[in-house]
Amino acid sequence: MVEVIARKQMPSGSCHCGSAKVSVPRLPEMVTECHCTICRRYAALWAYYRKEDVTFSGPLAVYVRGRGHIAFQRCADCGCVIGWLPRIEYPERGVNARMLDDFDVNAAALVVEEDASE
Ligand SMILES: [Zn+2]
Repeated sequence: MVEVIARKQMPSGSCHCGSAKVSVPRLPEMVTECHCTICRRYAALWAYYRKEDVTFSGPLAVYVRGRGHIAFQRCADCGCVIGWLPRIEYPERGVNARMLDDFDVNAAALVVEEDASE
């Protein structure tokens, strides 16, 4: 008898050109729209995961801002921002949920981070 194990595929996504890819353990139920000086320009919707649960790949360019705690990752070809990595000891990564296949923005709870001070 052969046992068939149904393996659920991890949700994933990519930038516009498809060169940069991201995979996450589950689609986010909640996303954050941050109004800080950089996130409002990126227009990203952030979903947060433990850093060991997220994979970024592809030709990535990096932008480190301000105090240098976060390195934003974007496709080196088309420029889409796929997420950020902490550069300090920190347990999470941010993923731009707009890059995820099958992410329904209308089905997720939205947290608006109004602090635009930085
Ligand atoms: Zn791209």
